[in-house]
This record gives sequence, structure tokens and C-alpha cells, in this order.
Amino acid sequence: MTNHRRPAGAMTAPAGPFLFRAHPGTDLEVAFTSVDAGNLAFHVSGTPAAGTKDNKGNKDNKVSQRDDSIAGGDGGAEDSRERVRASRRGVEAALGVPLGRTEYLTQVHSARVVTAAGRGWGESPAAVEADGLVSPTGRDPLAIMVADCLPVVFASRRSLESPAAVGRDGRSAASGPGSGGVGPLAGPTAVAHAGRRGLLDGILQNTVERMRREGSGHGPGDIQAWIGPAICGRCYEVPEQMRRDGTAQIPATHSTTMWGTPALDLPAGAQAVLESLGVTVHRSPVCTREDPRLFSHRRDPGRGRFIGLVWRGEEGQGSKHFEGREGREGSEG
Ligand SMILES: [Zn+2]
Repeated sequence: MTNHRRPAGAMTAPAGPFLFRAHPGTDLEVAFTSVDAGNLAFHVSGTPAAGTKDNKGNKDNKVSQRDDSIAGGDGGAEDSRERVRASRRGVEAALGVPLGRTEYLTQVHSARVVTAAGRGWGESPAAVEADGLVSPTGRDPLAIMVADCLPVVFASRRSLESPAAVGRDGRSAASGPGSGGVGPLAGPTAVAHAGRRGLLDGILQNTVERMRREGSGHGPGDIQAWIGPAICGRCYEVPEQMRRDGTAQIPATHSTTMWGTPALDLPAGAQAVLESLGVTVHRSPVCTREDPRLFSHRRDPGRGRFIGLVWRGEEGQGSKHFEGREGREGSEG
């Protein structure tokens, strides 16, 4: 691993279990974990190297696409499950999220978006199958797992016309005047998992549409998106036909690997799609395949997944600044 890229620009690298962490609004947390946070997926893309027993008792080939399920029945993998639980709690502790409250999905490379159920991974027996997750109030901690695919995290301002401008908790969703298009990022939040398939099938459009239905503004910049670390356009090699198909749909995805073969630039494609919808985009320059601080399916299949996370805590709760050391303790479990 001699070929690291250094993070630059808006996304900088704090120490500890996070590669990137920001507070773009009042009590609003946006974060992407690093390998130091541990693997955060119960099912890591069906490779024997992971030491799980996914193939046993699962005749369904789809299992290799499933990212997560906390349904039991995998007794032999209990050790690794407990490690994942400990790692998830470690991330929550580092951010101040109540333990077990983060909502995860069973990601299936679909374009399906669901609304948060209000029950985190610690309370819910199995995660819903979908690849986009929206919190109407922003108060549900949301996570999306990846290892080369794009983790996209969203926050938004409420639309002026939205009847939901006062949150369910009875408080004004945005403090002060001008709570609509010019107010703080106090509207719905969301996360999305966009691989090649999901990106081309419209997972990002569907996520933005759902956010707007839940009250996000329609104006330019009312929704902001953070495209986290993903495999870059110079590493994501695909067959020529696949590049042709992808490029026909989203021209910005056209790319060539650093070794000169056909490739797709998914982060560039995602940015183009989001900007066409009026979303303001912050994009990580970090490539998962090139940077050992992140899990990468292509570089190291089956090792694990990191997450993108968004959450707006109650006042004073989400703004605690734990140092990385505390976060690590949790992940050692
Ligand atoms: Zn790369």
C-alpha cells in the first residue's frame, strides 16, 4: 500500500474511529468511519475469508449481495457478530448516539427508499431491505454501510410551505425566523447506498424525492449531500460494454483506469445526478481501494464495511466532542 491519497478540501481527517466528521448544523452530526472503528456489517459480502457461515442454510444466492441482517441462526459466527455489535456501540458512544439506536438497512443494491422506523439495530430483530433511508425529523440516527460503493449522507432545510415545519416533538424544527429555505439544516436527513446498479436505477433520485415529500425544501442548496469515500474512477475497472451502458445513462461516469482500461467514475456520476436535482454536493477525494484507512471490497474482499452516518441529537447531546480514544475503547468490546 504505497499509493495513498491524502484527503483534501472540505473533507478533512480527524483522529480516531472517523475518517471524516462534521457539524454542518445545530446538533447535526455527519461522519464516515475508518477501519479503526472496526467492521460494522454483520454480513460481509459472501466471501469465505470473512469466516462467516453465510452459505450454510442459505440456498439463496442473493446472500452475497446482502449487507446486513441481525436475524439469528448463524450460531457459528456469534463471535464476529459480537464484535460487530461492540464496534457499532463504539461508534455510537463516540458520537453521543444512544446505544443501539442507529438504524441500519439490509442493503440489496436496489433503488428502494424507506422512512426510518424509529427503532435502532439494538431493538429491531431484522433490518428492512432497502438502500435509502430517510428520517423526517432528522432525529433518527441513520447509517449506511459500504466498502467501495458510495455512501451518501444527506441533510436539509425545510421547505417554507411544509406543514411539518414544526417537528413531531412540538419544537420548531428551525429556531429563529426564516425557518424555510434560508434556515439551518433542521429538516429531514437521509442516507443512501449507491453502487453501480443503484446509481443507474435511481436510488439517489428516489432518496431526494422522499426527502422532499417529508418536508425538505425544493430550492437550490436546500438539500446538502456528502458523498463519502468510495472506489474512484481510476480504480473501478468494468467491461467495455458496462462502461458504454453506464455512460449512456450518466455521461459523467465515463472513465479509464490508471492502467488504461475501461472504468466508471461513480462518485462523479453521483455528483452529476445530485446537482441536477438542485442538491449541494460535498465530495470526499479519498479512494477506498487506494487508502488503507478504509475497507475496500476490491482490494481486500470480505474484510469489512465502514459507515456513513447522520444524526441530529437533542440540544447539547450531539455536540459532545469525544476524542478518538474513547471511541476505540467501545470497539474493542
Ligand atoms: Zn482509486
